[in-house]
Amino acid sequence: MLVRRKLIREQALDVLARFGVKKAPVPIERLAEQLGARIVRGKAPDNLSGFVLREPNKGAVIIGVNSAHHENRQRFTIGHELGHFLLHKGQQLHVDRQWGGYQVKLRDEQSSRGTNIDEMEANLFAAELLMPIAFLDVDLAKLSTAQLSADEQINKLAEQYKVSEQALTLRLTYLGCIEQ
Ligand SMILES: [Zn+2]
Repeated sequence: MLVRRKLIREQALDVLARFGVKKAPVPIERLAEQLGARIVRGKAPDNLSGFVLREPNKGAVIIGVNSAHHENRQRFTIGHELGHFLLHKGQQLHVDRQWGGYQVKLRDEQSSRGTNIDEMEANLFAAELLMPIAFLDVDLAKLSTAQLSADEQINKLAEQYKVSEQALTLRLTYLGCIEQ
């Protein structure tokens, strides 16, 4: 099974277009609500980043976020859970835990798709939603005229997009903007 890169990019762009988001920072919480999700924050162990719960009878979707995490990480978690919500419809409950850098999910229903593929897809969806290529192209072009080092540019962009420098660096590497 492979990550559905084209579909994921199209879905993220569709969400941004439908709700009129044209620049960073992407209002991830508003988008989640407009897509029918309710955000619930709570203190949780550090290795629990979030979950998405569908309540079939009520037609409601709840996205849980660990309130102890940094605001930027919470934003990424919301994007990640939205990815599961839109891309992995079979699951009623999906919990994201992290052990030693790996995202592991607890499944209450068997899925034929691989666990890691689902996680990669949810991460890619969050990245496409929070750091769309079209936005980055414009902002990188603006930054290139300033006399800034690569680190300074990443620092400024991360602030503007309200994402962690780590998430932004991964994104720019994925897009081929950073030497590996
Ligand atoms: Zn996940």
